Amino acid sequence: MNAHDTDLTTRIVHHPYIPPAGFEAPQPGVFKASTVIFPSVAAMRSREWKDKSGYTYGLHGTPTTFILEERLCTLEGGLQCVLVPSGLAAIANVGLALLKPGDEVLIPDNAYGPGKDFAKGELARFGVTHALYDPLAPADLAARISSATRLVWLEAPGSVSMEFPDLIEQVRICRARGVITALDNTWGAGLAFQPFDLTGDGSLGVDISVQALTKYPSGGGDVLMGSAITRDAGLHMKIKLTHMRLGLGVGANDAETVLRALPSIALRYRAHDGAARALASWLQGQPAIAQVLHPALPGAPGHVHWKALCGAVNGGEGAAAGLFSVIFDARFSQPQVDAFCDSLRLFKLGYSWGGPMSLVVPYDIGSMRSRQTPHLKPGTLVRFSVGLESVEDLQRDLQQAMQQAFAAR
Ligand SMILES: *Cc1c(COP(=O)(O)O)cnc(C)c1O
Repeated sequence: MNAHDTDLTTRIVHHPYIPPAGFEAPQPGVFKASTVIFPSVAAMRSREWKDKSGYTYGLHGTPTTFILEERLCTLEGGLQCVLVPSGLAAIANVGLALLKPGDEVLIPDNAYGPGKDFAKGELARFGVTHALYDPLAPADLAARISSATRLVWLEAPGSVSMEFPDLIEQVRICRARGVITALDNTWGAGLAFQPFDLTGDGSLGVDISVQALTKYPSGGGDVLMGSAITRDAGLHMKIKLTHMRLGLGVGANDAETVLRALPSIALRYRAHDGAARALASWLQGQPAIAQVLHPALPGAPGHVHWKALCGAVNGGEGAAAGLFSVIFDARFSQPQVDAFCDSLRLFKLGYSWGGPMSLVVPYDIGSMRSRQTPHLKPGTLVRFSVGLESVEDLQRDLQQAMQQAFAAR
C-alpha cells in the first residue's frame, strides 16, 4: 500500500519519517513502550526476552531500562540487574524467587521494618518461616543456620538504630554453610564499600545486592524504584523469572529520573556524609543527647566494623551515608521529644531519605526489636536524614528546637 493512498488519520499513526541516526547527547534517550514492534513473525517467535539480545515487551526491558541496569551494575560491581517499582518490591522479589514451603529465611533484628513484615505476612502464608538474628553477634547467626535455611538477609548498618555488623564474618559464615546471602545495600549505595568484593581481593562478596534506588540513586525524594543485582547468572535468572511472572516493571519516566541523578551520586553522597558527620559530632557534645548512633563515630555500635569495611576510602576519612539517629536523655519525656521534632523548621517530618531536604522521624525503637538492645541507652530515639542545606543552618535549627522543647519550665 502506498502512503498517498491512505487517509490522514492512518498516515499520522504510520508516519514514514525516521530521524537521522547518530544523535548523541549527555543523557541517554527515553524509550517508552508497552508494545514493541517486530519486523517479522520469525523474529517474534525467536526473540529472547530473558536477556538483553533484543526487545519483546515493555515489561521485559527497553533501551532506557537496559542502560540504567548496566550503570547500576557498574556502581555496585555486579553483572546482572533487575529493576522493580520500589526497594521493598526488590526485597519481596528476591524472597519470592528463592524460597519455597519448608524453607527458612534469616533476617537481622535491625533490618528495614517492612521487609520483616513481608516475611511475617506473605512468606509465612506460603509456608516459609523466618527467624531474626542478632546483627552484632556472628555466633548467633551461625547458630541459627539450619538445613532449612535457604537465604540470609544482611544490612549494613541496620535501619534506624544504625548498628554496623561484621559483614565480612557474616558472609564467611553463610558461605561456609552454603547459604545464599542477600544484602540490603541502600545505605552503602555502592559507594561506601563494594558488596561483591568485601575484602578487596575478589575472594568474598554477597550473592545478591538490593537497593532502594528511591534514596541516593534518585537523590530527589521524588521517585520510587528498587534494584536486585547479582554476579551469578543462575541466581539472576531465578529473580528475573519471578520478576516477569509478577509483572514488576518500572516506568520510563522514573528510569529517566534515576539516570539523570546517577552522574552526581558520588558527589552528593560525599556532601551528605560530611554534613551528617559534622552534625552528629556536634550533637555528641549536647547535654540533651544520651547517645549518637552514627557508624563512623568512634564508640557507636559496630564502629570498628564500619572502619574495617568503609574506613580506607576518601583518603582515610571513610564513607558513610548522611543518616544517623540520636537517643535523647531519658529525663526527657516522649511528648518533649515530639515537641523537639515539631519545633524543627528545616528538618521536615517525613519517611525515606537521600534527597536534598533534611528529614526527621521519631521512632519507638523498643517496639521494633525482638530482643533487648543493651548497646542502646534508654531514652527516645530520633532519626535524621541530612540533606544538602548549609550545615550551619541545620545546626542552628537543631539548637533552636532543643531550646524550644527542653527549656526548663
Ligand atoms: C527505604 C528503604 C527500603 C525500601 O525502599 P522503598 O523504595 O521505599 O520501598 C529498603 N531498605 C532500606 C534499608 C531502606 O532504607
